Amino acid sequence: MSDFKVRDDWMSFCLPDISEAEVDAVGAAIRSGWWAKGPRTIEFEKRFAEYVGAKYCVGVNSCTAAQHLALLAKGIGPGDEVITTPLTFASTANTILHVGATPVFADIDPDTGLIDPKEIEKKITGKTRAIVPVHYSGLAADLDAIGKLCDSYGLFLSEDAAHAVETRYNGELIGHQPKGAVCYSFYATKNLACGEGGALVTNNEELAAKARVLSTHGMSAGSWNRYGKGGSWRYDIEEPGYKYNMFDIQAALAQVQLARMDDMQRRRFEAVEIYEQAFRDVPQLRLQKTPENCHHSRHLYILRIVPEMLTISRDQFIEELKMRNIGVSVHFIALHTMSAYVKRYGFKPEDFPKAYAFSESEISLPMYSTLGKEKAQYVADAVLDVVAKYKK
Ligand SMILES: *Cc1c(COP(=O)(O)O)cnc(C)c1O
Repeated sequence: MSDFKVRDDWMSFCLPDISEAEVDAVGAAIRSGWWAKGPRTIEFEKRFAEYVGAKYCVGVNSCTAAQHLALLAKGIGPGDEVITTPLTFASTANTILHVGATPVFADIDPDTGLIDPKEIEKKITGKTRAIVPVHYSGLAADLDAIGKLCDSYGLFLSEDAAHAVETRYNGELIGHQPKGAVCYSFYATKNLACGEGGALVTNNEELAAKARVLSTHGMSAGSWNRYGKGGSWRYDIEEPGYKYNMFDIQAALAQVQLARMDDMQRRRFEAVEIYEQAFRDVPQLRLQKTPENCHHSRHLYILRIVPEMLTISRDQFIEELKMRNIGVSVHFIALHTMSAYVKRYGFKPEDFPKAYAFSESEISLPMYSTLGKEKAQYVADAVLDVVAKYKK
């Protein structure tokens, strides 16, 4: 047996970073009496657009809503095909189905987990209308190559930036002067979190206006203020829309988190440094590669095991970490293996071999700003302990 000492208490995979400032901001929003969509939401939309460097931001209640609205506002629907990655969360492809279009998966680059533009090109047909790349784990998808495909084939680009609030590509933040739509998540576990929330960012005025109307039942613009002075009781329903808007309690939280983001990122990077140092030269472990023109936001810490070099499976590896009181996760269980997609399209795991192999060997380690160096070192030591015990 090794001399590794198991800690007494359970370590969560993820914890939110909530300071008194968030609590105060929520209190102020509630006390103001305006707690649905109102001035704080408008202010957050303005600040977030400024932060990423885009013209318009529509605050919504989830990234899923933003993704649905982006496709709807672009008029994508039945008969259309939309290309995306199988290494993602369900909403990326679910929302393609929600508009009545067909999700078409393109395999990934196994060094990064990002959708591979060469695989995308193979999947383009006369019915393809859009590409939905995911900035997986906080890396940026290859936007130069994907942008070129969009230009040559006349396709809409809707980026899944749920992990990418601080991600940079060619030196600019994701969302900077965007080509199409960029969809963010402010869900509890994300880098900028407000419990539940999201945003659609774009430079396209018409797309922003349409998404905004569709996000509040299809009500004519400005009706959020129909109870305020200068507001009007009269409104029109331009289209049967959805109830997707952000509201002021969310926006109050999101504003504070936006201001604290650099500091939270800096603290995540301390943990990244510890992990990378510990795993760099271990042949049984494979680290994610960061392309040179990309700044990784480190929303997730992606570790892969090399199954041929260990006597235990990935699932058993996870059990070993659990026995050492560490919560971990997997990002993602490949979407084409989920029963809803297997039933609909008859996919086999090997249909997207790289995404499947990636998904089956991946372990997401704890990565959040309140983790701290000591716990990160504990996680690193535990991983090395499991490797030492089960290496071939
Ligand atoms: C979390 C997540 C989403 C969905 O975000 P919600 O705000 O919960 O709707 C979409 N895509 C990816 C890659 C995610 O991780």
